[in-house]
Amino acid sequence: MVFCDKPADASETTVSGPVFIRRIVAGVILVNLFVIALICYSLHESRAQQVKIAEITTQNLSLVLEQNIGNSITKLDLILLATKDELEKHLGDGSIGQQQLDAYLSRQLSRLSELDGLRVADAHGEITYGVDARNDTRIFVGDREYFRMHRETADAGLIISKPIVSRVTGKWSLIISRRVDDKGGSFAGVVYGVISLERYSRLFSSIVVGKNGTITLRGQDMEVLVRYPATSESGNAVGQKVVSATYRDMIEKGLTQGTFKSMHPVDNIERIHSFRKISSYPLYINIGLAAKDYLAEWREEVSRMLAISVFFLSLSVMASVLIYRNWKRRKAAIRALAQQEFKFRTIADFTYDWEFWLGPDGSFIHTSPSCERITGHDAEEFYSAPDLLSTILYPDDRALFSEHRHEAISDGKNGSLVFRILHAEKGVRWIEHVCQPIVDESGNFLGTRGSNRDITERKHAEEERNRLAGQLQQAQKMEAVGQLAGGIAHDFNNILTAIIGYSQIILMRMDKESPLRHYVDQVFASAERAADLTKDLLAFSRKQVLDTRPIDLCQVLEGLGKMLDRLIPEDIDFKISHDEREMIVLADKGQIEQVIMNLVTNARDAMPRGGILSVDISRVCMDERFVHAHGFGEPGEYALISVADSGHGMDAETQRRIFEPFFTTKEVGKGTGLGMAIIYGIIKQHNGYVYVYSEVGKGTTFRIYLPLSCGIQGEAGEEIQSVGAMGGHETILLVEDDGTVRGLHRMILEEAGYSVIDAVDGQDAVDRFMNCETVIDMVVTDVIMPKKDGKRLYKEIEAFRPDMKVLFMSGYTKDIVIERGVLDDELHFVAKPVLPRELLRKVRQILDRKTP
Ligand code: ADP
Ligand code: MG
Repeated sequence: MVFCDKPADASETTVSGPVFIRRIVAGVILVNLFVIALICYSLHESRAQQVKIAEITTQNLSLVLEQNIGNSITKLDLILLATKDELEKHLGDGSIGQQQLDAYLSRQLSRLSELDGLRVADAHGEITYGVDARNDTRIFVGDREYFRMHRETADAGLIISKPIVSRVTGKWSLIISRRVDDKGGSFAGVVYGVISLERYSRLFSSIVVGKNGTITLRGQDMEVLVRYPATSESGNAVGQKVVSATYRDMIEKGLTQGTFKSMHPVDNIERIHSFRKISSYPLYINIGLAAKDYLAEWREEVSRMLAISVFFLSLSVMASVLIYRNWKRRKAAIRALAQQEFKFRTIADFTYDWEFWLGPDGSFIHTSPSCERITGHDAEEFYSAPDLLSTILYPDDRALFSEHRHEAISDGKNGSLVFRILHAEKGVRWIEHVCQPIVDESGNFLGTRGSNRDITERKHAEEERNRLAGQLQQAQKMEAVGQLAGGIAHDFNNILTAIIGYSQIILMRMDKESPLRHYVDQVFASAERAADLTKDLLAFSRKQVLDTRPIDLCQVLEGLGKMLDRLIPEDIDFKISHDEREMIVLADKGQIEQVIMNLVTNARDAMPRGGILSVDISRVCMDERFVHAHGFGEPGEYALISVADSGHGMDAETQRRIFEPFFTTKEVGKGTGLGMAIIYGIIKQHNGYVYVYSEVGKGTTFRIYLPLSCGIQGEAGEEIQSVGAMGGHETILLVEDDGTVRGLHRMILEEAGYSVIDAVDGQDAVDRFMNCETVIDMVVTDVIMPKKDGKRLYKEIEAFRPDMKVLFMSGYTKDIVIERGVLDDELHFVAKPVLPRELLRKVRQILDRKTP
């Protein structure tokens, strides 16, 4: 079965009613004219044929009659000559016996049936011999013209008389005579034969010439001798000399035979005539066939044909009426069909999804115009190139699609599939496809219809959602681990603070030469390492306090250069590069250094057999497109720290997990699995992004994006006031809930000369402040404490003493100050565990700062 999607030729339906009628009438007229012309031609031919037949018939008949009449006259002449000889012989002897001669004549007469009488007239004209001359009355023919001619002319020969009424029989007859001479050669009489015209009439009547046909025998002067049939008006017409001009002309020209057409002047009937002169005698036989007769059959044919034409005409009129009605019905049907077609096409052409019908061979029977939006190719392209669909299928999905089609066709079931195509302009697009086999009423397979939806956006959204979900999961995990680690680190910090503080005090008081000094050093060093670890834990758990300032990343990298050089073995080609311009970001310098250190360390570890390692700092601008393409970020200006190595790289699973705390692929003792987690924590806290790209065996590139802070002037090299004396004599309110730490700090401060009032929590501190008789110069407080936290405590005191100086200390806290991620510049802060020296330096620094 073949289908055509192109609209059917509608020219038939565009013809208007009147035009169609005009066409059909013209058609009927033409056909009928043709038929009539055909009939006329055939009638004309058949008429000519009839005329021809009539001519031939007249010619044949005239020939037959000419011979018949000629022969009998010739025979008669022979008899006349024989009789004449006989008579002349006897006249010479003078011995003519009456009876003898009669018998002779009678014998001769019997030999010629046409003859009515054979007689001899003597020189006076009296009939002397002859069969019927033996009656009482004497009969004379001396007055007859032929007799006179013989008597006067010796060599008149054979004379055929004009028709005369026989004096013997009383019938119209022809007398055919010869002269008889006596011995001396003078006129002795006439021998003659009588042929009754009746005989010819009988002969002629036996010949069929039709109702209006004529047979005429004429004499020397064209006088009628015999005419068949005898007309009522003219009796037997004997003697009449009326002939048509044509006939007369022909005779006058001396023609002995001929055929002509003429209208008889008397009866006004048209006839075909053929005439013949009867041998050498002055007689003409003329056969006339009337047109009426010989065309009778033709006339019948004409009326038959006429009837047929009329029948055909009415038939064709009826047929055209039927055709017209049929056309009208058809037109209405086509119009209805076109409306239907328009209706469905209107819907089909506006389907948003790409609908198609593939034939059993996979060629396109129909495709909705939406194919152009979805594939970038228009419908014509699909019709003209049947394998276009397979061409635009994404190479990896081709096998999938053909398998799906195979199943849909062989199982005859509905199916669905998600595959990719290559859009002519937009690249890879995701298509959700459902299809269904098409069969006709008899169960013949006609192909499959398919509906295709572009789900690229949905796919992307899904991916984005998955990514975000992954990120969220990651964030939650980090949060949980962070909380745990942070909690441990906080408590641990207090313990470490005590260990570090007391060991330092021991060191300060111990005799320089004491053999125990080495052990205390060890305690101190271990405690410091433990403090580093808790710092790491806090960094990745984002609970670490940041000391952010505007710093130039390029300077940071330069400053780090030497240390990095020491870190990296000879077999690694290490390069550092950065932008010419300053790259100011608001960040904690130490943290950023740690990030770079961690990245470089990891890169080094990934290249045990050497390779290339490069650290680069450049400036990038994230716009919407960048954000869309990479799936992360906020538009803006960023500093980009790239650390690229040519090491062993990571597989996808490893990449997914690198930021997990304690995830490491390194052997026990070599890796802690905290490096990347810390980087993650630090960068998040700096509102930046980490991006990793790695291929197994090829290498890894980490990219760190930090928001550029253009407006802020660098304070990176801020001069730290030199603290001449670390101690002082001011009064300090020390607030700390951990007794050990409180004791340690109190001791450190008192050792440095300060007066210390200590409080166990926020509320206690407020109470002591209120009840204190001496002037308190400064508050040194922990941030998170039961009852009242450091921040609130300070706010309350500040209400009474706006110039009150303060130093916050914390290892881990959810305090608002810290949750902001950045410390208010007015507030002073020190992270736990704090070294005694650091604590004293910070206290002195704050006390010495002039109150605004
Ligand atoms: P550690 O270095 O202690 O293993 P990290 O958090 O620093 O922990 O790194 C986690 C893991 O990430 C590493 O064990 C390693 O598998 C992978 N990794 C990190 N950086 C790279 C790198 N540049 N090349 C290859 N793998 C890396
Ligand atoms: Mg590491």
